Amino acid sequence: MAEKITDRDVLLVVDVQNDFCPGGNLPVPNGDEVVPVVNRLGSRFAHVVLTQDWHPQGHQSFASSHPGRKPFETIALPYGDQVLWPDHCVQGTTGAEFHGRLQVPHAELVLRKGYHRAIDSYSAFFENDRTTPTGLSGYLRERGLTRLFVAGLAFDFCVRYSAEDAHRAGFGVVVIDDACRAIDVDGSAAATRRSLAELGIPLIRADAIA
Ligand SMILES: [Zn+2]
Repeated sequence: MAEKITDRDVLLVVDVQNDFCPGGNLPVPNGDEVVPVVNRLGSRFAHVVLTQDWHPQGHQSFASSHPGRKPFETIALPYGDQVLWPDHCVQGTTGAEFHGRLQVPHAELVLRKGYHRAIDSYSAFFENDRTTPTGLSGYLRERGLTRLFVAGLAFDFCVRYSAEDAHRAGFGVVVIDDACRAIDVDGSAAATRRSLAELGIPLIRADAIA
């Protein structure tokens, strides 16, 4: 069944940045393939919000901040388990810029996240301590936007956490499968599909959006 876009819907484009694309510092396999899909989708939504992963140097999610640790290991931080990543999306670097072919000039908000040195932020709504809000919920409510269509990178981290938090916050949410790509650490892509299904969050294809 086709989902019809309304005035209260918003396309949330998660982290379509150079570092998450091939050639970047934390490339999601085929991450750049989402760009044309997002561009086509974006032109059909009146409301578009972009998120931008935006870390200071020495961020706690970087393996380089933990001597003896390597990227993709998991460590315990005060707020819980954290996967360690290569340095990526450092504020002001080319890697942190949006992909050069991303074309959504009418996007109304660029929401930066991950700027607190001691806390990562996969979700567009809450940092990884699960209590520090980014402000997105308030923004959407004040603007009367009630349903999110989520696209971007990576499917199994920032897209997943954003979609699940949107659902918990009481927003409608749909994930656009072919507008996302996964990084797939230890089965995280399959775990994401299971989790979205359990929460009743639809995973649809872009061509099912009318
Ligand atoms: Zn990050």
